[in-house]
Amino acid sequence: MTSSPPFAPTTRRALLAAGLAGSAASLAGKAAAQVAVRPGAPAINRRLPDVVVVGAGAFGGWTALALREAGARVTLVDAYGPGNPRASSGDESRLLRLSYGTRDIYTLWAQRAAALWDRRQQEFGRRMYYPNGSLRVMHEAELAAQRAVFDRHAIPYEVLGPDEMRKRWPQLNYDDTPHVFYESTGGVVKARESMIAVSEVFMQKGGEVRIGHARPGPMSGGAMQHLLVDDAPLPAGLTLFACGPWLPKVFPQLLGDRIRVPRRELFYVGSPIGDHRYRWEHLPNLADLDTYTASDVDYGIKVASRLPDTPMDPDFGARMPTEFLRQQVEDYVARRMPGLKGQPIVATRTCQTEYSDNSHFIIDRHPEAANVWIAGAGSGHAFKMGPVLGDYLRDRLLGRPTDPAEDALFTLASHKSALAGGAGGGA
Ligand SMILES: Cc1cc2nc3c(=O)[nH]c(=O)nc-3n(C[C@H](O)[C@H](O)[C@H](O)COP(=O)(O)OP(=O)(O)OC[C@H]3O[C@@H](n4cnc5c(N)ncnc54)[C@H](O)[C@@H]3O)c2cc1C
Repeated sequence: MTSSPPFAPTTRRALLAAGLAGSAASLAGKAAAQVAVRPGAPAINRRLPDVVVVGAGAFGGWTALALREAGARVTLVDAYGPGNPRASSGDESRLLRLSYGTRDIYTLWAQRAAALWDRRQQEFGRRMYYPNGSLRVMHEAELAAQRAVFDRHAIPYEVLGPDEMRKRWPQLNYDDTPHVFYESTGGVVKARESMIAVSEVFMQKGGEVRIGHARPGPMSGGAMQHLLVDDAPLPAGLTLFACGPWLPKVFPQLLGDRIRVPRRELFYVGSPIGDHRYRWEHLPNLADLDTYTASDVDYGIKVASRLPDTPMDPDFGARMPTEFLRQQVEDYVARRMPGLKGQPIVATRTCQTEYSDNSHFIIDRHPEAANVWIAGAGSGHAFKMGPVLGDYLRDRLLGRPTDPAEDALFTLASHKSALAGGAGGGA
């Protein structure tokens, strides 16, 4: 038994006494409510650069944690705080699935991610991952390609017809579908709560979280001289900008056309009282061609349907859902899950996603500053990858070996303009 509660707030003085609140960091931004540094937190390795990570979403939060665990002194700066409702990582839940068509790299990353989510939730002492599998409707060609990838990597799956579907999940109606692809690996991850957990563990391990608006400082001689946080300079050996849908605002010339930011709406539908058939324990997630669900992990069943892309400003965009999509979601629920017909929508979220032209992530150094890295363009599928991204970005920033074929997919040079549309799937 420990004598102090695990998430006890502490004072800045206590952090300073522990030598963990960097003097550079104190120049800019406002310290978030800190949590106590736990005994055994990794010591600072002075041979590693001090790192500032801007953005506490899936890319930045996990990377800050991995860098701190590696011994770097790390400050995590976020304009609105970890898990904030404007962030793409700020919704309640996200899906973890392995079916990625022929893009084996993401299938393998997602497989690793599933194991890491499981390991991290044991370590954090907090439930974040709910392995319920998923059901996906696919065209014939897509199905054949998916089977080939899963066969190649010996990943379990089944192709189920209407009779089998009815037998296993009588609460669903797939009578109109000749075959459904079922993958038992994967599930639902809690989004907002996980990002809060990551930032708390990061602080327990000696990282510092600051609330402040960051922008690049002057660049000369191939380096950024310092970062600006709320207009005050914040020096750093390395800076990672992991600003999600804000990246085009932070680097308008470099990323203004490489990332497009469309609006998305999500609806959470409640179950009838006492009816638990739609919870994750009893139901995989569903993916149709234009609508998908995440089974209930305490918030209701999430249903997402899509309008054609409408640009969204992540700071100022209105976050009220549209009547058109509400109707579409209710029609989908009545068709696929008839027992939920007429049940209330218990919550909604409007967020945005950040697509590259080909839905590969963007991870690269800034072309004018060797001490500045950029990571983002999650393209509707990065949340699940958070723990893998954290380890990968740690290695990239610290100059450790990574897979050159993977690195090449993410370079700025490999991405064209995303504004014309194109990639737009997700999950
Ligand atoms: C509707 C929807 C459904 C999705 N479904 C899935 C899914 O099922 N599975 C999946 O894996 N992925 C899914 N995704 C994608 C996934 O959520 C995103 O790819 C991921 O969350 C992006 O993380 P990020 O760190 O890049 O951005 P964010 O989470 O947006 O984080 C960026 C952070 O940077 C901060 N910031 C920005 N600018 C500044 C600044 N100038 N100074 C300081 N801080 C700043 C913000 O406050 C924010 O907290 C979905 C996305 C959407 C929108």
